[in-house]
Amino acid sequence: MMNPFLLPLDREELLKRLSARGAPHGGMMPGTMKPPAAPPDPQAVWQSLRPTNNQTLVIYVHIPFCISRCSFCGFYRNRTDDAAIEEYVKRLLVEIDRVADEGAFTKKPVEVVYFGGGTPTALTADQLRRTVGRLHERFNIAPDCEFTIEGRLFAFDDDRVRACLESGVNRFSFGVQSFETELRRSLGRRLSREDTLARLARIKEICGDRIALVADLIYGLPGQTQEDWMERNVKTVHLESALDGVDLYSLKVFPGSPIAKRVQEEGNWSEEDRLARHAEASDYLAAQGWKQLSTTHWGRNALERNLYNTYAKIGVDMVPFGCGAGGFIGDWSIMQEGDLAKYIELVDAGLKPIGMVMQSPPARRDSIRFTRMTDLGYFDPTEIPETDFSPIIDNWTQAGVWTPMVGASVPLACGRAGRASLPVYRLTRLGEFYQAKLNSLLTGFHMAAHASALDKIKMATAGIAGKLKGQS
Ligand code: SF4
Repeated sequence: MMNPFLLPLDREELLKRLSARGAPHGGMMPGTMKPPAAPPDPQAVWQSLRPTNNQTLVIYVHIPFCISRCSFCGFYRNRTDDAAIEEYVKRLLVEIDRVADEGAFTKKPVEVVYFGGGTPTALTADQLRRTVGRLHERFNIAPDCEFTIEGRLFAFDDDRVRACLESGVNRFSFGVQSFETELRRSLGRRLSREDTLARLARIKEICGDRIALVADLIYGLPGQTQEDWMERNVKTVHLESALDGVDLYSLKVFPGSPIAKRVQEEGNWSEEDRLARHAEASDYLAAQGWKQLSTTHWGRNALERNLYNTYAKIGVDMVPFGCGAGGFIGDWSIMQEGDLAKYIELVDAGLKPIGMVMQSPPARRDSIRFTRMTDLGYFDPTEIPETDFSPIIDNWTQAGVWTPMVGASVPLACGRAGRASLPVYRLTRLGEFYQAKLNSLLTGFHMAAHASALDKIKMATAGIAGKLKGQS
């Protein structure tokens, strides 16, 4: 039987394979995602959870309000409303106090705190002080904790900036998305290019080196030219912005989002064009001395560590707070109630406002072992010693998704420098672009190698079914 984990060497076929949604055996074994017979009781599970030994502890706080809906976004929930936000913040503080009173997560140092959303920068200066301050009072926030507030530059005034700075925030992550005024407006962003850059400079002026300034940028937006992506965005980051870090994303179109219709009507950049622009932008930042911290993330200096993004992908313990927050503790994933009214009801009823808990399938643990490497841009077969990867190693090298590095350093923040004899495989720009798919295939290969004869028959059947559906 043909090895389903081999990659086509023909370029067109290769891109078709790597860009296809899902893949036969891509990370999940048949049967591993079956829901349990009776759903577990979220409150009982929550009460039983304790920090995992030798695992980093992260706190995630969700602020589910936005000034307006951005056209590309699949996460919009509630429009900003002063009274509603104040009611929400009161419940958030109750939830923080209650978890702190329970005591299970208060002793271990918290190495990362992340306020995401939504738009945490929509909180007033006083609300920011109260929530950030309460976490510092009630939890053991480590001295070098990466403490991020995510949000938008619009309306994030000097008072709010100072409130964050004075209450213990050390990182801002802004969804800039583009520095092109017209494009920004088409996305639902209000500030012009000039105002965006001026605001970043002003925040840097207030905070100096005590806060890392980080932004997301998206390429492949409808109406964006490839030249403008490089000249008015990537180069702007280095030459004109006060940013310490940047994440460069290829546009993901969420079905039902306002931008989905535009993409359907106007078309989009080709796969080859996206790939070429990912490579060009990455090569440019590397040449300017920026450090690559993941396959998509770059830091200008040591201020930017990108810890939250890295930890979120590798499934460390993450205690969730707020409406719609997600977390993990050990093998359990926790999804907090996403409906604002129900969230408030649960908090007022004295409960941890959890909507659902789910025990992770073994495939998740396996997938995370690979993500630890591929998100940092490398693959080291010796980290998974129980599996022989030789049936795919050379084929993947020939396909161009990675290159062997013997006795050389892998130039990412992965600490794999200086190995003398065994090759570490460094993802190429092509491999970085398709990191998620490669991760899924590696996980699938590993699981297939350890599958029982019965599982192998099931997987073969799933593969044939996939082909019949035209997915392979
Ligand atoms: S991108 Fe952020 S600010 Fe815009 S709608 Fe989505 S969550 Fe809200």
